Amino acid sequence: MAKRTRIIEGTWNCTSCDTKGIPARHKLCPNCNNPREVTGKESEFDFGGVDAKSGKSLREGVADDETLELAAAGEDWFCAYCGAANRGDASHCKQCSAERTADAKAAVSRELPSPEAPPQPVAQPKKPGGTKRWLVLGVLFSCCFGGGLFRCWASSTHEYPGEVTGTAWKRAVVQERYLPVEKTGWRDELHGTAPRMPVNGAGEVAGVANIRGCVSRQRGTRRVADGTERVCRNKTRKVACGTEEKCRRRDKGNGFVEEVCEDVTKYCSESYEDCKTETRYRTEPVYAQQCTYDTYEWAPQDRREASGTDDRPRWPTLPVGGLDRLRREEQYSVNIRYEDDGVKEHVLEPKREQEFLAWKKGQGVNLTVTNLGKVEQVVPR
Ligand SMILES: [Zn+2]
Ligand SMILES: [Zn+2]
Repeated sequence: MAKRTRIIEGTWNCTSCDTKGIPARHKLCPNCNNPREVTGKESEFDFGGVDAKSGKSLREGVADDETLELAAAGEDWFCAYCGAANRGDASHCKQCSAERTADAKAAVSRELPSPEAPPQPVAQPKKPGGTKRWLVLGVLFSCCFGGGLFRCWASSTHEYPGEVTGTAWKRAVVQERYLPVEKTGWRDELHGTAPRMPVNGAGEVAGVANIRGCVSRQRGTRRVADGTERVCRNKTRKVACGTEEKCRRRDKGNGFVEEVCEDVTKYCSESYEDCKTETRYRTEPVYAQQCTYDTYEWAPQDRREASGTDDRPRWPTLPVGGLDRLRREEQYSVNIRYEDDGVKEHVLEPKREQEFLAWKKGQGVNLTVTNLGKVEQVVPR
């Protein structure tokens, strides 16, 4: 596709006499004869607006040969002695005749932003809060490096002295007997097994016997294919739809811009129907044979309880038969009082008698408590 090139002339403002919109071809102000300099924004050119869609300059292109030749002379340089702007290909300052030296500033040519490639937005750093907040955060962070701040605060602990104000125990003995029972189960999961009675409360086998009375019952559901259906969805896609003009501009560093325009393929979004054949499903019940059978299980027969607030837990007594077994239950509690913003109570629940017996009424203890009030540890003092 053919490229079309134009030269666009910029304008500058004289800071000496305040003349505005001086064409770039004048390196001296036509009004006061002051040279254009790098300082005071005199060399920041206005190249006019561009078409938002194509990026094409709204100004007319330069047509006369003399100005085109000036635009092709390269980046301007600024005289190190008098500061005047000079043609890129000049070896001496037009204003003061000084030689171009290595320390003379030169303008730079650069690509100007175009509508199709907008400059990437730079992420703005978030406005920081007050100094005080940062200070607090800083202190917290330095004390709990790397952890969540709240979690850190919540898990910070304090030590408190406390005292055991009482202990209690509760014990129960449950007598269980191995008795016949009737149950139901799915036929394919039942395997006939002879029961075996326990000896001294152990070694029993429940067994599965006398499977009978089987009936068909719903056991669950399953998903089955039920034909196909055509499903259509509206979608969009990009398709070529003719061409559009796109322009790039290059600041030549001497008050002129080189503009290159070309016709590029234009893409439009088009909606279309996307159709597929999909399998349709339905759920249907699943049936199986459910049967009654005989088996055995432990059933509670009797229960005896004992409790106390002393430090000598005892088991209640129960007579035991040959088919019976005894199941034992035990519960212990130790009440502890401590001061943390007022009098607090904490209850320890030892799992075993040996742990329970380590605590005595009136005994001094040390508690470790978090900022949220959770008791993490209690040790005898
Ligand atoms: Zn002037
Ligand atoms: Zn000079």
